[in-house]
Amino acid sequence: MPWNFLNYFFTDIGIDLGTANVVIYGKQKGVVVNEPSVTAINRKTNRMMAVGDEAKKMLARTPAHIEVIRPLVSGVIADFEMTQELLRHFFKHLGSSSLFGFRRAVLAIPDGLTEVERKSVEDAALNAGCSRVYLVESPVAAALGANLPIHSPAASLIIDIGGGTTDIAVISMGSPVISRTLKTAGDKFNEDIIRYVREEFKLIIGEPTAELAKIMVGSAIPGEHRPGGPGEIAIKGRDAASGLPKEVIIKSSQIRTALQRSLKIIVDATQDVVESTPPELAGDLLERGIHLCGGGALLWGLDQLIEKETSVKTTVVEDPLLCVARGLGQLIEDIDRNRPFFDNPLKALEIRIS
Ligand code: ADP
Ligand code: MG
Repeated sequence: MPWNFLNYFFTDIGIDLGTANVVIYGKQKGVVVNEPSVTAINRKTNRMMAVGDEAKKMLARTPAHIEVIRPLVSGVIADFEMTQELLRHFFKHLGSSSLFGFRRAVLAIPDGLTEVERKSVEDAALNAGCSRVYLVESPVAAALGANLPIHSPAASLIIDIGGGTTDIAVISMGSPVISRTLKTAGDKFNEDIIRYVREEFKLIIGEPTAELAKIMVGSAIPGEHRPGGPGEIAIKGRDAASGLPKEVIIKSSQIRTALQRSLKIIVDATQDVVESTPPELAGDLLERGIHLCGGGALLWGLDQLIEKETSVKTTVVEDPLLCVARGLGQLIEDIDRNRPFFDNPLKALEIRIS
């Protein structure tokens, strides 16, 4: 059957179901959804109130009966029903599917999920309206999105710093050779900042404020902050002693101090992966360098810090928040031809339409 003919049956999409953001890539369309993986539910009526951007705005600002939920934790589904609702909501905005309404989806999953965890990701996508689901390890998609030559036997090292997890992987011939998953990533950075501000300034702040400070003035290397950006920022919260609103100024260097321990965990794990890489492949890494993606890669100076500590050239990929989705985009351009990526090294995960 000619491939074009199949286009009438299927709409193919790639889904990067991240702990912080969901990015959906439509075949021949590009990025069609890019929103936070957040839902808000009214516990009095049990009705969904908001999804994505709208729900994220409610984070830490809602009355008791409205619950803002992040249904994915550390790349794993923590709230199955909400994940399903999240996907269903985004699918609605994709417009009509193909002529016969079949939708095939390739989903990026963290390396090393258990069988049960993989099944739950598949089920969530199937229940939300996909006809077939294929899973691919997220570092493989990330490496494709970073335009690394992953088909060759030469190795590439990619670090994806998301919200819930940092995935460090050496990829060769289309699959991870060595990989580590850390629970130290963007969310942990926010927690570090919340704790630091409470200890240093006796100020209680919410996560959105911590995230804003991280993005605006965060830095991973001494003595520097984003060129052209501010070196400090005013943050508001509640005074821990008086309970009254208060504002303090936090400097770039203070954020670095707050993140120090977490950054060390990422650097140490990277060193560990580099050192465990077989000698032949280690040569490739030296030549090709380390590639950073995921939103956490945007932390100012993180590439320089990793480069300094590992002595391997480190670069941030273009548009790091969309890297995995771009890789999925490449895979869905020809799902049938790219099947080896989905099966390897996992079992065949194709779901047949009954
Ligand atoms: P996930 O794949 O888990 O959904 P993402 O790759 O979307 O995660 O990255 C989200 C994380 O990136 C969040 O923790 C967010 O705070 C962080 N982030 C986004 N932009 C920046 C920035 N400019 N500087 C530092 N961190 C950032
Ligand atoms: Mg991600």
